[in-house]
Amino acid sequence: MEQKLLEVKNLKKWFPVDSDSFFPQKKQFLKAVDDISFFINKGETLGLVGESGCGKSTAGRSVLRLLEATEGSVFLDGEDIYNLSSSRLKKKRNEMQIVFQDPYASLNPRLKVRSIIEEPLIIHTNLTKKQRREKLSQLMQDVGLDESYLERYPHEFSGGQRQRIGIARAIAVQPKLIVMDEPVSALDVSVQAQVLNLIQDLQEKYQLTYLFITHNLSVVKHISNRIAVMYLGKIVEIADRETFFKDPKHPYSGALISAIPEPNPKLKKERVILQGDVPSPVNPPSGCPFHTRCPLVMDRCKSEVPQLKDVGNNQIVACHLHE
Ligand code: SF4
Repeated sequence: MEQKLLEVKNLKKWFPVDSDSFFPQKKQFLKAVDDISFFINKGETLGLVGESGCGKSTAGRSVLRLLEATEGSVFLDGEDIYNLSSSRLKKKRNEMQIVFQDPYASLNPRLKVRSIIEEPLIIHTNLTKKQRREKLSQLMQDVGLDESYLERYPHEFSGGQRQRIGIARAIAVQPKLIVMDEPVSALDVSVQAQVLNLIQDLQEKYQLTYLFITHNLSVVKHISNRIAVMYLGKIVEIADRETFFKDPKHPYSGALISAIPEPNPKLKKERVILQGDVPSPVNPPSGCPFHTRCPLVMDRCKSEVPQLKDVGNNQIVACHLHE
């Protein structure tokens, strides 16, 4: 039976913003993440998708407690990381790591690769110097880099190589969960596939569990077991990969899928063009947050908030069309 590694319950991350000039006494918030719940089974990859600004990166950081959530709980292997003593949280931190989007900004330019990857081993493990040396050479092998590169600085590498270094640093302490935050978006298309394959190989080798955040549906199709779609801080659909791509239930999911480029020009695909921009998360629309752009909008969508409903087949969706 599948075992849940991560369980996120009613997570909110709201940021206070400057008050309305007409009603200065009224506090305003940017609701980057607004009451989301999901789980990830051990060894599984959950793809978290949506347009930029939908709150997916904030969700990833709040799950790891790199950002303090406004409300909600996050259970990693049964322990609520928002309810731990600081010493227990420090220990728990080595079970969850992150790989950032920008491999240029995420590595300290003044440190050699050796120090960058060794740092978490010094902080989180009791390995001796000799054991750390052995571990470093194993990690370089794991991510397909020559051991001699340990003595170089980040600026001496290409984007793809830097991301490999970021991945080596993330897996160094043998975490259970890794949040991959757009890990290939900043890379040349030619190296994206190599890095994605590496991420998959390492998952198999070390039984890793991934929360894979991306705006790129082709990437998520390649790598995820299940997919969660976010819009304006809320999850609007979760489904297994096959179900999601064959039979998306939420009109927003359908629009995202229709925008995936079709490599075969003979296969005609109807693209759903969404009208307008994503509304402000400070003042989200009433009712269904997607109603201002939904091609299937109905009257009730403007006033009634749709709740996530189980529609069978491991698929949940928040849309009045599926009640
Ligand atoms: Fe569209 Fe209405 Fe469904 Fe929202 S609830 S996605 S507006 S049909």
